[in-house]
Amino acid sequence: MFPQKSHYFHAGRQDSRRQQNERRRHRHHLPSTVEHTVTPLQHLLTPTDTQTVDLSTFSTPTVTPTSTYIQTIASVCTQTVQPIFTPIVTPVTSLPTYTRRPADVVRFVCISDTHNRTDCLHYSIPDGDVLLHGGDFTIRGDPHNAHVFNQWLGRLPHKYKVVIAGNHEELFDKNFYPVPADPKKVLSNAIYLQDQYTSVYGIKIYGAPWTPRHYRSAFQLPRGEQCWKKWSLIPEDTDILLTHGPPWGQGDITKKSQHGGCEELLAIVQDKVKPKYHVFGHIHEGYGVTHDGTTFFINAALCNNRYLPVNRPIVFDMPLPRGYTKK
Ligand SMILES: [Zn+2]
Ligand SMILES: [Zn+2]
Repeated sequence: MFPQKSHYFHAGRQDSRRQQNERRRHRHHLPSTVEHTVTPLQHLLTPTDTQTVDLSTFSTPTVTPTSTYIQTIASVCTQTVQPIFTPIVTPVTSLPTYTRRPADVVRFVCISDTHNRTDCLHYSIPDGDVLLHGGDFTIRGDPHNAHVFNQWLGRLPHKYKVVIAGNHEELFDKNFYPVPADPKKVLSNAIYLQDQYTSVYGIKIYGAPWTPRHYRSAFQLPRGEQCWKKWSLIPEDTDILLTHGPPWGQGDITKKSQHGGCEELLAIVQDKVKPKYHVFGHIHEGYGVTHDGTTFFINAALCNNRYLPVNRPIVFDMPLPRGYTKK
């Protein structure tokens, strides 16, 4: 249920967006400025993406060369769970993508915001069991570009490719096309999610394309109750949440040093769903991984602000649930 309006809105008042944000910050005891220490991930891939790197090169006193991403970042994250709406983030480091993939883990490869640039990546997409794409695979939702993206997906080795739309995918939004394209036909090489979930290897993934309205583009909603209603659909037993946009305070700092994320999404994620991983993109400047003590937040936007694909995919491993095999 959406919180009492008085907690979220000041109905009837025609204040500026800035004043509304100030009040929201005050209500949730948010500081007007936030110290962010998110640093770029330490990508350890060599320029040639070689698969024959000596893993012992990367061993540390606390992390063995073949340890999973979970183990790696667990050694970094020592903070306790943060209260709701506290924008404290802990930068973490991605798993080197060439590490051996044990049979008893499921490897996820996260990408987002490829914006028609899949043909000019300066690296190959790391292999894994599941590819997650957080939307914005086109620039203007052109059906031909979506077709090319689907063909590219078909050439990747991952057994499962889970994709959601972003605000650039106008071809799927009835506000832009009277007869929108059928995503399941256009993306025939993927599992397309729109307010839906799928289970792979017993791991539940929920996907949704919505972002708070910024300008006229696809799958956008006014902040507040409409966003809250969409996020309320997320099942509480979701293991991996895939949304196009970030929650407020995690991977959402824009080039104007403002938070672009969704407050309602943060509330649902931290208070109700508490997924193990939350994967998104949309705010290209927010690329990287952070942690709040419960959830790993992964902004996997490959493109930067100039729509150049300068960032690398982000990889994590999850233990294969008991009773499941990868055969
Ligand atoms: Zn984008
Ligand atoms: Zn976007």
